Amino acid sequence: MTSAFDPHRAREDFPALQQSVNGMPLAYLDNAATSQKPRAVLDVMDAYYEHDNANVHRGIHELSRRATEAYEAARVKAARWINAASADEIVWTRGTTEAINLVAASWGLDNIGPGDEILLSVLEHHSNIVPWQILAARTGATIRYIELDDQGRLLLDDLPRLLGERTKIVAISHVSNALGTVNPLHEIIPAAKAAGAVVLVDGAQGAVHSSVDVQTLGADFYAFSGHKMCGPTGIGVLWGRRDMLERMSPYQGGGEMIHIVGRDASSWAAVPHKFEAGTPNIAGAIGLGAAIDYLDTIGMDAIVRHEHELMAYAMERLRAVPGIRIFGPESLEERSAVVSFTMGDAHPHDISTILDAHGVAVRAGHHCAQLVMKHFGVPATARASFYLYSTREDVDRLFAGLDEVRAIFG
Ligand code: PMP
Repeated sequence: MTSAFDPHRAREDFPALQQSVNGMPLAYLDNAATSQKPRAVLDVMDAYYEHDNANVHRGIHELSRRATEAYEAARVKAARWINAASADEIVWTRGTTEAINLVAASWGLDNIGPGDEILLSVLEHHSNIVPWQILAARTGATIRYIELDDQGRLLLDDLPRLLGERTKIVAISHVSNALGTVNPLHEIIPAAKAAGAVVLVDGAQGAVHSSVDVQTLGADFYAFSGHKMCGPTGIGVLWGRRDMLERMSPYQGGGEMIHIVGRDASSWAAVPHKFEAGTPNIAGAIGLGAAIDYLDTIGMDAIVRHEHELMAYAMERLRAVPGIRIFGPESLEERSAVVSFTMGDAHPHDISTILDAHGVAVRAGHHCAQLVMKHFGVPATARASFYLYSTREDVDRLFAGLDEVRAIFG
């Protein structure tokens, strides 16, 4: 299957990619923000609402039974996607952001106190910084950071100094959304564990572009979002080691998460339902299950190989553009399918506007990673990010647009 992979063929599966923007065929290069959705996912979600729509785990009637079955089947698919030991270790969330907030609020408030340390990196998305800042402000804990080198790679030589008996949790991204840096989790996690810390991995960009095996990774928590991997928005996963989840307090209270409710106190449902208060995003979970099925038919090996080849082509061409500054690791082995850049005096917003006029969608801004921007002394970058349906023609279109940026800004 892998050798036959053709991104042009895959492109046909995505209705949104068939359109023109500003009179030009769409070249969608903003995949790190969100991916497009294949017809297979849209159809499954439509079919759910048209035929099976009902609340889950509550009704005994046929539609509720069907909805519950499809919802729980999607949980099994999500578990398989990251090789979790059991579907009970998969907590549905709104996405990576909510998953990290859940851990910070639940595990964090029960386990973090004054003088404790939370270790992050300068590379983190705001979603993996701000929840810990809120927790630190509530508990009197201190946040420390792994710094970056001039290629946006973590300075791991500092780890022995940063990790100590006060370090209660290390929260680290798998892959940086701003630079594409792939973090060496195989070095960080064992070091954190040896120091007795709990480890959370922000996998928003990791579970999309690589095969993840949480059983060999050695972390305690892994979070990812459905919308970046062909699924709908509003659904994501917190994977937690079962014993961790079982010891944690609920995040939110309400229906679905209880066992018995009394006047003054209640008891909780078993994991993962203990963390899923209220009517969940049923269609979202089913849609993410369909996205996983879709990605499975293509195969992660084929996706990784394609992205790698495309990145090699894009980087070679980018390096030749006069006035360009490329951020992130030079080696393709250390980088995912993302490239952040600036061009001479052109503001990244202007770059993005000019590219948009060519039908090329890239992101411009701080990418929710202001600490990264500060590290490099820039307010913003332009960012092109690729996925399975990105093609060399998309890359060529990006460069045609950049020619015009150069013509305008010199
Ligand atoms: N972490 C990283 C590395 C991300 O790229 C993103 C999404 N840009 C998030 C966290 C937050 O994900 P979401 O908005 O889907 O919750």
